Amino acid sequence: MSQLPAEPIKILFIAAEADPFVKIGGLGDYAGSLPLAIRNIHPELIQNYKIDIRLVIPFHGKISVKKWGIKFLTKFAITENNKSVIVRTYITQIEGLPVYLISRNRQENYSAPVYPHKSFQNSRKYAFFSVACLELMKHLNWKADVIHANDWHTSFSILKLKELKRETAFYSKIKTLLTIHNLAYMGAGSEIALKYFRLDPVKEHSLPSWAQTQPLPMGLALADKIIAVSPSYSKEITTPKFGYGLEKLFLKRRKSLSGILNGIDYQKWDPLHDKCIENTFSTQNISYRLHNKQSLQRQFELSCQDKNIPLITIISRLDSQKGIDLLIDGFMLLVDIPLQLIILGSGNKGLEKDCENLENKYPERVRTVIRYDEMTARRLYSGADIILIPSRFEPCGTTQMIAMRYGCIPVARATGGLKDSIEDGKNGFLFIDSTPSALVKTIRKAIRIYRNKPSQWKLMQIQAMKSDFSWNNSALLYAKNYLNLLTA
Ligand code: ADP
Repeated sequence: MSQLPAEPIKILFIAAEADPFVKIGGLGDYAGSLPLAIRNIHPELIQNYKIDIRLVIPFHGKISVKKWGIKFLTKFAITENNKSVIVRTYITQIEGLPVYLISRNRQENYSAPVYPHKSFQNSRKYAFFSVACLELMKHLNWKADVIHANDWHTSFSILKLKELKRETAFYSKIKTLLTIHNLAYMGAGSEIALKYFRLDPVKEHSLPSWAQTQPLPMGLALADKIIAVSPSYSKEITTPKFGYGLEKLFLKRRKSLSGILNGIDYQKWDPLHDKCIENTFSTQNISYRLHNKQSLQRQFELSCQDKNIPLITIISRLDSQKGIDLLIDGFMLLVDIPLQLIILGSGNKGLEKDCENLENKYPERVRTVIRYDEMTARRLYSGADIILIPSRFEPCGTTQMIAMRYGCIPVARATGGLKDSIEDGKNGFLFIDSTPSALVKTIRKAIRIYRNKPSQWKLMQIQAMKSDFSWNNSALLYAKNYLNLLTA
């Protein structure tokens, strides 16, 4: 019988948001599901190691103490701007995964944003959080082998660790892995926060000078391993078009850079057991989706409540990244085809207005809902025929994976993780040019198949639903990366 190694591999997984506590976008899906998937990997798959992974998130005002059974754990002080500041830490768990919550001020009001609008407050909040995460380990008497940080918010931990390694033996052997979810956000405006926590600019020749004081590029220069959230995105960011000025750094660090496609939680996103939808379904009874579609047509008071009219949806942050303007500009080119469109999204005020104007212009066929609403999102995934994801760039994208699991066919731009998860003509449709006409052409193509070749359409839905976007494979790849870091 093979022997288990004495010590599990210890991972401190730190993120700004994690579902079900708080979710703003794909990062919340990721941090709410990947640590659990890693925790559940069978040791036999990773040289008999067990993984002791623990999640840390900020104790955002919106997180309910009662709902999640959160208990006070301990408090300690860290230094910010030469003053001692108290950190209060709390604990709960999800399915056995320890979750720590870090608070500067538990009286933070319910409506306090997860990401404060002003860059000083935003960067200070996450610098404080990241530094406190490192200190927390000492108070737990538990030392991670690897700190797994995500995006700019928690890159501060990698910067602080570098300093602590010089000063304190406790930290000297800890390795770091940084996942890039979106390079477009680097933490600009963090200069004061960096000073408050005595974090020096990174002197790295391959970084432009402006990047030497932004937490994400600084973290990318220092992390032991960099993972982008899809293989395609990990290549795209080495080019000037997608690298945002960091392409030289990525080329220099290419041996430490790789891409792992995100997964989704198959229990949370399951059309057969989803409590938010009227008619649950599987590949065996995919026609039940039609009842969900008709229920959407009624709910949104669309003038034509015909189950054969293609129902298209968008479920998205409204941001120029997402390419929603391509549809706004191209929609008039679709007036000759019967179709309905329901947009669910929020974000950029100008885009919100444009989406509302689209409904005003085409009240018979367009509905716009400006809010974040998971229940409506689930109903749309389960009833719409097509989802549009015309992103200019998409590091991974969660929306297309959820949509496919629910038999809703994506029409998406061939970029990043969309390209890695959608097979054109098999489980969705891809287009290359970031133009209204390329999008419209592909919508037309999809609708032609929907209308004229129902059995091909059904086959595509089944293939989409059967595509495997569970975390199993990707979680294992992360675990192997942890192992490599420890044995390197
Ligand atoms: P990003 O993280 O860039 O916003 P992703 O595709 O990775 O994009 O993740 C988006 C996630 O947020 C998906 O789970 C999607 O269902 C959800 N989402 C986006 N907008 C809304 C909304 N208005 N209401 C409900 N859920 C939304």
